[in-house]
Amino acid sequence: SFNAIVAEEVDGKTVAQFKSMDLVDLPDEPVLVDVAYSTINYKDGLAVSGAAPICRRLPLICGIDLAGTVVESSDSAYRPGDQVLVNGYGLSEVHNGGYSQKQRIRPEWIVRIPDGMSAYETMALGTAGYTSMLCVQGLQDLGVKPEDGPVLVTGAAGGVGTVAVSLLAGLGYEVHASTGRVDEQGEFLRGLGAAALVPRQELARDCKPLEQELWAGVVDTVGDKVLATAIAQTKYEGVVTACGLAGGAGLASSVMPFILRGVTLRGIDSVQASQQRRQRAWDALAATMNREHLASLSKTVAMSEVPALAAKILAGEVAGRLVVDVNR
Ligand code: NAP
Repeated sequence: SFNAIVAEEVDGKTVAQFKSMDLVDLPDEPVLVDVAYSTINYKDGLAVSGAAPICRRLPLICGIDLAGTVVESSDSAYRPGDQVLVNGYGLSEVHNGGYSQKQRIRPEWIVRIPDGMSAYETMALGTAGYTSMLCVQGLQDLGVKPEDGPVLVTGAAGGVGTVAVSLLAGLGYEVHASTGRVDEQGEFLRGLGAAALVPRQELARDCKPLEQELWAGVVDTVGDKVLATAIAQTKYEGVVTACGLAGGAGLASSVMPFILRGVTLRGIDSVQASQQRRQRAWDALAATMNREHLASLSKTVAMSEVPALAAKILAGEVAGRLVVDVNR
């Protein structure tokens, strides 16, 4: 038997608890994986605490990410010993997820861990880091170049934010990091390559339809007023990638930045992104992610700590990335 964190319905509420499981409890999918690590993303915080109905089928094993080693596979594309990872694709939503020492998964969800990257490093990045790369590639694909001007990252001390700061700075962009924790996290963000810090209050306010043009590109993880202000401050033909809602799901903007400055608002989704887009993002992460930064922005926690940390990530008290050792 092995351990897992399972969301169940108790008195009409969704509650996540530790359960002892056997292989027969796992779904009938072709690839059996010995899970080594999972992660805690903002969405895992929502799922484990029951703060939002992330798990749409109950009971369900939580954890939107996993990395590990194939143990057996009825699909000929995978063999015992293959190093694999899964991000999203409905794990912890409609399929069983990564907070489990073993899991059965579908071949079409799998990304092969790129050469030169460890299972630990893939989970230090996790959905958050992979989403950061989707945002970076979202800017690059629409032509945002380092010489075009500063790039703003919001929610910079969070999981998506810290990785985005490191990646963009490494690619030569002048990164302005917006955080509500300048005193606590400012120095750390500068160490990741931030050229300037923007206190969250400067953005989390009612903005004018058009403000001073500051940003060639934006990676926004916060949404709501912060995103609206960032859009109003984006330069002529600049690009804003929106991937998160840590500050709220609203967006009270105006059409002015779009029709007078040709600004592009590009949505970023990691969950249903194609296997091709995923592999491209992971290969780019393997090639460009600064491993010292990655080690400095991530830390390992035991699976037993997940419920407490789920509450903390929702309260905005987690910095960087948490790797869950499912065997602890
Ligand atoms: P995280 O580690 O909790 O980071 C979120 C950051 O947002 C916090 O560290 C904080 O940054 C800031 N923040 C928190 N509460 C806020 C508030 N009330 N107002 C303004 N800022 C606030 O979470 P994450 O895993 O990086 O995820 C970030 C967001 O991206 C989440 O909304 C998540 O659901 C979303 N996401 C989306 C996708 C996708 O596929 N689209 C994938 C991954 C994540 P500071 O302390 O620096 O201010």
